[in-house]
Amino acid sequence: MKQRKRRHTGPYDPRTITRAVTHIRLEAANAGKLAALDELAQVYLPLCQQYVTLFCSDERPNKLRAPLFATPLSERWQRVAIQQAAGIARAFRTNRAQAYQDYVDDLLAYHEQEAEGTLDVEGEEPTWNEWNIPTLRQACIQANVNVVELEPSQDSSFDYWLTISTLEFRKQLVVPVKLADYHREALKDKTINTSVILNKHGEGWWLTLSYDKVVQVQTAPSAPVVGIDVGIANFVTASSGKHYGTFHGKLRERQKRDREKRRRKAKLRKCLEKKGVKKLPSTSSKSGQRLARHVRQSINRAVNQCFAEHEGMQIAYEHLSVATMKYKARAMNAYLYASNLAHIPRQITWNAAKRGVAAIRVKSAYSSQECSVCHYVDRANRPNQQTFCCRVCGHSTHADLNAALNIQHRLGDEELRACRGRKAVKALLLRRHQEWKKQNGYP
Ligand SMILES: [Zn+2]
Repeated sequence: MKQRKRRHTGPYDPRTITRAVTHIRLEAANAGKLAALDELAQVYLPLCQQYVTLFCSDERPNKLRAPLFATPLSERWQRVAIQQAAGIARAFRTNRAQAYQDYVDDLLAYHEQEAEGTLDVEGEEPTWNEWNIPTLRQACIQANVNVVELEPSQDSSFDYWLTISTLEFRKQLVVPVKLADYHREALKDKTINTSVILNKHGEGWWLTLSYDKVVQVQTAPSAPVVGIDVGIANFVTASSGKHYGTFHGKLRERQKRDREKRRRKAKLRKCLEKKGVKKLPSTSSKSGQRLARHVRQSINRAVNQCFAEHEGMQIAYEHLSVATMKYKARAMNAYLYASNLAHIPRQITWNAAKRGVAAIRVKSAYSSQECSVCHYVDRANRPNQQTFCCRVCGHSTHADLNAALNIQHRLGDEELRACRGRKAVKALLLRRHQEWKKQNGYP
């Protein structure tokens, strides 16, 4: 079962989440009917791609845009394609803008460090690579009730009938839908949304249904706060002192083996290429995909457990920028780590939405270098990846725990929230450090 979260207004407001029920197989007994669906997809997909390209480059995404491209599809189907393309383009533009902002922040931090003379020896000036416009590879149709209709079946051998408009005028496909027991259980007493998704995987077609659910937030603004630090050595560290999940050990071993395998394959390809062999073995790795899935599952388990053990508390977590991710992943340094790191905050937001827990993002700047006792900020406070040892007050603890405590304290810290940029954050923290020194009788 896959889930999607909808935008919500504030951390304590009720939120509507959409839960999807996936992997409902369309009956293979109707080979002729599914062939008609294939034909439809062969026309639909290129059309949708044209609008994706348009909305990602020349025009702002507009799901109500008037049809522009010639197609044998009905106007209703064209509207569906435009709507789907607008959604894809909007996500693309948002993610790209976020990545670009991260790049600009990285660049500023780089020049700041350069001016201060605190640049790493291996530090390189960040560069920006323009993103490619998304390509639709697999047949996926996000249809609405104007073109695909789902009706309960009166006949007991099927659960629903799916009526799909086709390329031929007024000719409709009627496909029976049979649910598995767990699908039926998930959809029991729910109002199913009228929009459905049709996916083609391999030879078969699959249906995704969804329903909306309103979740009330259970945590009050006065509830105790737990800070969460995310990383690689420990996926999640709570400010209460416990770690959840790790990339080290088995996962890391598997990743190493996978990398070796890919290297050997690449070598082989080069060798064959030189000899003029036409058909080369693919470099994509099944075990790599399996590994990535396994990492995501381990992350999900870690986040779930952390939430379960901090019931009734509100959660503070970091806004992870590319810079923070790179900093955190530096010890092991691989793209795989960074991309998995980004899955952790996503999983935190989703868990919070579905459980009705208030989870609030706080600034991440210097959260791993700041001393949680005296606020002194220094890279030298981190003699190695796991240890935090303050150069001024001597406070010493696990580095992730120190960061989790800083994150906990940042929830509700309006002064810090108002800071614009890393420089302002650093100035504020050092002011607080001076204040602390005065109060504790330091010279
Ligand atoms: Zn200190």
